[in-house]
Order: sequence, then C-alpha cells, then structure tokens
Amino acid sequence: MGILFRLLAPKPVKKIRHAAHPVRNVKRAVTPKPVRQVRRAAHPVSMVERGIENGIVHAVRGSGGRTAARRAGGTGTVYYGTCGVHHRRPDTAANCKDCAAVDALQAARAAAAEAARVEATRRAAAESARAEAARVRREVILADHKRAAETNRKQHATARTSSWKTWATPR
Ligand SMILES: [Zn+2]
Repeated sequence: MGILFRLLAPKPVKKIRHAAHPVRNVKRAVTPKPVRQVRRAAHPVSMVERGIENGIVHAVRGSGGRTAARRAGGTGTVYYGTCGVHHRRPDTAANCKDCAAVDALQAARAAAAEAARVEATRRAAAESARAEAARVRREVILADHKRAAETNRKQHATARTSSWKTWATPR
C-alpha cells in the first residue's frame, strides 16, 4: 500500500477495501511467516523507512503520533516504540533494532537541524558585523571628503580675498 493512498484515502474507504478483499486476509493468514518475511525483505521499502512512513501516516491521520507510548483508539491498549510495529511492552520496544534505528535517525536529523540553525546564526552575525564595518568605513571616508572640501573652500576664499586685496591696494 503506497504512502500517498494511506495519507489521502479516508479511513472508511480503507475499511471498505479491507472488507472487499477478504481473500487477501485469508491469504495473509495462510501464508507462512518466513515467506512473508522474505517478501517484505524483497520490498524496496526498508524497515527504517517503513517506520518513518508509519510515523508520518500516524501523525497526519491522528492515530497518536510518535510518542513512546500511544493509545489505540478506544481499545485502551497502550503501544510502545517508534518503528511502526505496535510493541505491547516498553522493554520489547527498548530491545527493537528498528525502533533504535528510527530513534537514531530522528536524533541525527535533529542534530543536523540544530547544527544548521547554529551555522545560520553564526553567518547572520558575521554578515551584520561585515555590514557594520562597511558602514563605519563609509562614514570615515565621507568625513575625510567633507574635511577636504572644507579646506579647499577656505583656501579658495583666502586666495580670492588676497588677490582682491593685491589688486585693490594702492601701490
Ligand atoms: Zn520497534
């Protein structure tokens, strides 16, 4: 069953489909477990991916999410673990390799997200420091230009006055 169907199809439709294909359930019951395990192993979806898929479906469909212990709807049964298999006891979940793999993957993803967040913060701080340094540099240059312009204006004024004095002063 594809993840899209599981996410999108309303639950009653799934129940109808289950009811409409009793043969499959009979076949499932009759098929020996080793055969089923081999078939599942041949399927391209790994157990870790299946666990994550189950987590996504459960989170979206609202069947309890990924908490360590989740309660099945109305039955009062508490399930444990994150791999998608309904472990009935916490120690079974604690010993489950698939649960450990899902937990490790989620922890790795959380660590990667945290590292990315720290790196983004560092880059933003470095960028704002660069912008501030550039602003200070521009202000220094502008102040230099203003000082130079003022000096220039004074020199011109002095030159004009002195030349006028030279011209106007009787010899
Ligand atoms: Zn498990």
